[in-house]
Amino acid sequence: MTKPVLSIQNLSVDYVTDDGPVRAIDNVSLDVMPGEILGVAGESGSGKTTLAKAIMRILQPPAVISGGRVLFEDKDLLQLDEEGLRRLRWTRMSMVFQSAMDALNPVISIGEQIVDTMKVHTDFNSSQARDRAVHLLEMVGIPGDRIDSHAHQLSGGMRQRVGIALALCLEPSLVILDEPTTALDVVVEKEILGEIKELQNKLGFSVMFITHDLERMLQVSDRVAVFYAARLAEIGPAKGLRDNPQHPYTQGLLKAFPSIAPGARTPESIPGSPPSLLSPPSGCRFHPRCSQVVDACSQTRPIRTDLGPGHAAECHLLSQETGAAT
Ligand code: SF4
Repeated sequence: MTKPVLSIQNLSVDYVTDDGPVRAIDNVSLDVMPGEILGVAGESGSGKTTLAKAIMRILQPPAVISGGRVLFEDKDLLQLDEEGLRRLRWTRMSMVFQSAMDALNPVISIGEQIVDTMKVHTDFNSSQARDRAVHLLEMVGIPGDRIDSHAHQLSGGMRQRVGIALALCLEPSLVILDEPTTALDVVVEKEILGEIKELQNKLGFSVMFITHDLERMLQVSDRVAVFYAARLAEIGPAKGLRDNPQHPYTQGLLKAFPSIAPGARTPESIPGSPPSLLSPPSGCRFHPRCSQVVDACSQTRPIRTDLGPGHAAECHLLSQETGAAT
């Protein structure tokens, strides 16, 4: 049986506030398989970015990891010391942040940033590292002669491409993309996502791709994980989720997105808004907004129900249907 590259098991993350702990990731488990693109969807504040930062161990106080395990290539990332993490970050797993302009160093050229990263982590000399930097830039669609440009001399799309080149420069097995195209127009966004998919096909790395754009995510992902209020509502193959979503929140989220398909229905919003994590609803956190709510929903958290290969959801209706104990 194929082993996951990344296995998140019962992970919880709290933000410690004056009003008490706010649980931003609540007992979440999911796997990322080799060569898979796993999309992570959910409204703002659902825990997507906190999850990514917890995996990379780059959460800042007042955030604390309060439970669980994060196994990456058989190592528990939560048990590694700083030196152990340093050896893995960029070489085996890397991350592209929401805003590359903030992530890139404004005072040194993009080429130097790639070269420096390679010289720290490999035996490349300056000339080899520079050749590789040119190759990487060209691979993500930036002409090699822009290697001496600084971040402010590039468009938003080019800066995001540099972020991707940096993330790929040491050929990691896992790349986390945190809303990599949010700040870009739709044409550039489509181009970049197409390039990521092409590179992933060619190089075979696994991707965790975070976005609030469910439609886009379904196009590029193999599987999709849908978060609601710090919990995993549903995870499953992208096609299955698009054609036959099982969790009422996934169903609502899909109906809320406009489609350009001929004869497409009018988008319908989900009534209400996501809860405050300071005082989330009891039981299933979606129950105040759910059109299919039953008595148990406000009383107990639904258990995770397996619905098929790689497909699971947390909903009382599904556990009743499958006969799972609640
Ligand atoms: Fe709706 Fe209840 Fe299922 Fe939650 S558990 S999604 S409230 S039916």
